[in-house]
Amino acid sequence: MSLQDISARIAKAAQAAGRDADSVKLIAVSKVQPNDRVEAVLEQGHRCFGENRVQEAAGKWPDFMERFSGVDLHLIGPLQTNKARQAMELCHAIHSVDRAKLAKTLARLAQEMGHCPDLFIQVNTGEEPQKAGILPLEADDFIAECRSLDLPVKGLMCIPPVEEEPALHFALLAKIAARNGLNGLSMGMSSDFERAIALGATHVRVGSAIFGDRVKAQAQ
Ligand SMILES: *Cc1c(COP(=O)(O)O)cnc(C)c1O
Repeated sequence: MSLQDISARIAKAAQAAGRDADSVKLIAVSKVQPNDRVEAVLEQGHRCFGENRVQEAAGKWPDFMERFSGVDLHLIGPLQTNKARQAMELCHAIHSVDRAKLAKTLARLAQEMGHCPDLFIQVNTGEEPQKAGILPLEADDFIAECRSLDLPVKGLMCIPPVEEEPALHFALLAKIAARNGLNGLSMGMSSDFERAIALGATHVRVGSAIFGDRVKAQAQ
């Protein structure tokens, strides 16, 4: 698959759902990919990328950002509070806000720095013990808490359990977002982004379908 193929599939899925193609943002997930593959996608004019580790992002993106203007970098993986400042300096959006301690740290740093990336609250829709995210039943309270801290909450994010039908999880995420008046829905990966778009995704996070298989094995 190429970037063009994925963009075409996104446009088609949006159209089928009665939506504008540009209501869906493609986050090209470049984690663990060799730099030449990332650079090829930058050369094609794409600017929106996702990384799941602050350290890895900090190692490769400042250089790319110097050479390519307008890069829009999204952190999609778990964030430790001691890396929050670095993440806020480097990223334009953080999709993994998942606990009160992190929300408070982001709020304090936002005050100090005078800016804050767009934030997405990660919801553990499958209630998987090993997975990050706020539980669905706690989501409304947590969203309210983030708003009371003046954080720029744009939407919700989920990663469905691998062995389950993702559409159920996408629908649940959309329902929680709607009842809280949130428009952003970060959901859908290489294997299911069309179904996510059908259920309202505004941000799809697509890695291997654009770049090919991740070369080095890496635990998520
Ligand atoms: C790696 C990753 C993706 C992309 O996965 P693909 O299956 O390669 O498209 C999306 N979201 C998150 C949170 C990831 O860690």
